[in-house]
Amino acid sequence: MELDAAFRIAVFDWLTQLTALRSDYVVTWKELSSFRFRGERATLIGAEGIWKPRQLELPISVATAPPKPGRSAPYDDEVGDGGTLRYMYRGTDPQHPSNVGMRRLCELRKPLVYFYGIEAGRYVAFFPTYITADEPAQLSVTLQVDDASTVEFGMPAVSEGVQARREYVTVAAKRRLHQAGFRARVMRAYRQRCAVCNLAHESLLDAAHIVPDRDPRGVAAVKNGLSLCKIHHAAYDTNILGIDPDHVIHVRGDILDEIDGPMLQHGIKENHGQRLLVVPSRTEQRPSGELLDLRFAEFRRAN
Ligand SMILES: [Zn+2]
Repeated sequence: MELDAAFRIAVFDWLTQLTALRSDYVVTWKELSSFRFRGERATLIGAEGIWKPRQLELPISVATAPPKPGRSAPYDDEVGDGGTLRYMYRGTDPQHPSNVGMRRLCELRKPLVYFYGIEAGRYVAFFPTYITADEPAQLSVTLQVDDASTVEFGMPAVSEGVQARREYVTVAAKRRLHQAGFRARVMRAYRQRCAVCNLAHESLLDAAHIVPDRDPRGVAAVKNGLSLCKIHHAAYDTNILGIDPDHVIHVRGDILDEIDGPMLQHGIKENHGQRLLVVPSRTEQRPSGELLDLRFAEFRRAN
């Protein structure tokens, strides 16, 4: 196999392993710096966005910088419509070597990695990503993500089936990107702790929605979020536990009457009547009274 293909496949395999247990596919800059190819260190991401490691002739990745603090990217106009993603050229010269590199990858139909920055040093990794169109007039290219089990090099033409699959995977990738952004903001606001029990292990924490995101009022803003551990998240979503607009925790009546082991006793029942232990320090990030009220009405109905 030629070096370029071997390198790309090694990168995708390595990233697949690295992200295997992470539902959000987030990787850190530090982790990325530990990649090695045939015993040699190889850099996978660059500060300039479009990155070509010294081992290759063409770029291995494109990266989007994390949003500035206080902004809640991504916005749809930044990521492109429907089943595609948009990526801006480096600068305004279509002949800049980085832009030429992307064009060559497009012609050769070779995949790369798309790193989307969600906060300083943390990226969601999308791979394999194909550059499917070059748009010099808009100074941008179109990207599509494909299924990691289907890496293809220089396919002569993309069949309808492959095209449909890429659109599907890209739409799912965008959803992941929005969720990862929401999670990162909620985790930071709650200082990586469960609002109900104060548990501080990020791998056991979720960014829960107060009003679900399928509801038009279920905005992906921190004020509609709660950092909850896995058990309290599930208990909240199934109305075993409710939180009223004054941040007081309520446990459903039939659960309070139930006698069982320490998990039910200490993990659930003892929270009844307590206030949330952790809320964001910034007022505008605290759980919205209006949204808590909407959601608490549903808990009441279940009670
Ligand atoms: Zn908890």
